[in-house]
Amino acid sequence: MTKKSNDEPSLDPSDWDDFRKSGHKIFDDMVDDLAGLRQRTAWQPMDEDAVKPFKAPMPKKGAGLEGAYKDYVEQVKPYPLGLSHPRFWGWAGGAGTADGMIANMISAAFHSPNIIFQQASLYSEIQVLDWFKEIFGFPGDAAGILVSGGSMANFVGLNVARHAMAGEAIRKKGLDGTQYTVYGSTETHYCIPKALDVLGLGTNNFRKIPVDENFQIDVAALKAAIARDRKAGLTPIAISANAGTIKTGATDPLDELADLAELEDLWLHCDGAFGAMAILSDKYRHLVKGIERVNSLAFDLHKWLSQPYETGGILIQPGKWLEETFSYDASYVTKLPGALTDVPVVFSHRGIELSRGFRAFPFWFTAKAFGIEKFGEMITKNIEHAQYLKGLVDDAPELQRLAPVPMNVVNFRYIGNGDVPEDKLNDLNRAILVQVHRRGIAVPSYEDIGGKFAIRVCNLNHRTRRDDFDLLVKSVLEIGKELENA
Ligand SMILES: *Cc1c(COP(=O)(O)O)cnc(C)c1O
Repeated sequence: MTKKSNDEPSLDPSDWDDFRKSGHKIFDDMVDDLAGLRQRTAWQPMDEDAVKPFKAPMPKKGAGLEGAYKDYVEQVKPYPLGLSHPRFWGWAGGAGTADGMIANMISAAFHSPNIIFQQASLYSEIQVLDWFKEIFGFPGDAAGILVSGGSMANFVGLNVARHAMAGEAIRKKGLDGTQYTVYGSTETHYCIPKALDVLGLGTNNFRKIPVDENFQIDVAALKAAIARDRKAGLTPIAISANAGTIKTGATDPLDELADLAELEDLWLHCDGAFGAMAILSDKYRHLVKGIERVNSLAFDLHKWLSQPYETGGILIQPGKWLEETFSYDASYVTKLPGALTDVPVVFSHRGIELSRGFRAFPFWFTAKAFGIEKFGEMITKNIEHAQYLKGLVDDAPELQRLAPVPMNVVNFRYIGNGDVPEDKLNDLNRAILVQVHRRGIAVPSYEDIGGKFAIRVCNLNHRTRRDDFDLLVKSVLEIGKELENA
């Protein structure tokens, strides 16, 4: 007997009404979890028992939606990173939003990845990139693409720099032995030298220029390094500026670097992973003054814009360089007028990836829900809260601030009443931070500031309240005293 067509196997639910009921219950749990974040610990360590389920063999037969969800609830849900928690300030994490969660669900249902086809995802990404051009003061003929994050955005920017400055022959012939050099401060994120490594330029050709007491690049030292390299027969191609360094939130003098890049005929790249977004704050946009002049600007949406992971972006001016760097011809990507491939922008000609998710959607959606100004208000609040924490640290004799706080990053340590010898302070502060994490109080990260172990708060969290910093300081003081006397 031939099977009826509706008996053919598929991955769809066997009963859509049951699926809807289960889905509603799951959605209710998701909302409860988000609404109850403040009641949770900021982090939950995973012991041996917690890791055990992840060694189970692969499921050959299915347990259904309910069965899979049960495993999620028991094995995964109790152990999040904690990014969404009001007291997560580690590294450079964004907190996400409830509206962004909905955006991701809608996008999953829409299932319309932005590849090379005519569909709304394509126009939405073009539109979002136009918004960022406007936000950063880039001209209409600038070009961009959304990528997985800041590391990829910086890679794309430096690849374009190599192409624009060292010539297109490299794309076909590879490097010919010329030593191309790139300059950035000692505070530059490691994704920049890593990009030079992948691009074949070599990490040794990344020149680490010293910084001043504000952790901003020493422009005189930069000029001297460029001159020295030219004299030695090397070929400088780019300066990599910082808008908000990972360690202290410092921004290099962008206008001065733009003048220098023009004078020296160098490409000016900027890593603005989180800091570039300060431009949205009416009160603090001056911190990134000059950002509109850089040739390539890398930024993250999943950090200060609280977007779902993974989204970053890169803008290039003049825009023509982007497609010149990445275009490829192949029979299966040629445009067929009138058909699906009849598109104004082929994003695969602007980066490494071909198949890409609908990266623009969560921002497209949440920007409409909140309005761009709201993001600016959150950024202003985060910077002011960081200044508040700075004040708390400066007012506590048992604490010592280890770096200036130009934006939203605070580095400090516990010193007690001065009885702890300097060579014991790093271990003591390491131990304090471990306890702050393990007791689930808060998640600052740590930093090495001139050999001193700093407890580091990078405030990108729209959920944080002022009293969350009161609690952090109180806890560090208590734990410090407890461990000092142990
Ligand atoms: C986070 C960060 C990066 C890397 O971005 P990812 O999105 O994590 O890949 C690069 N530079 C700075 C300054 C950052 O804060």
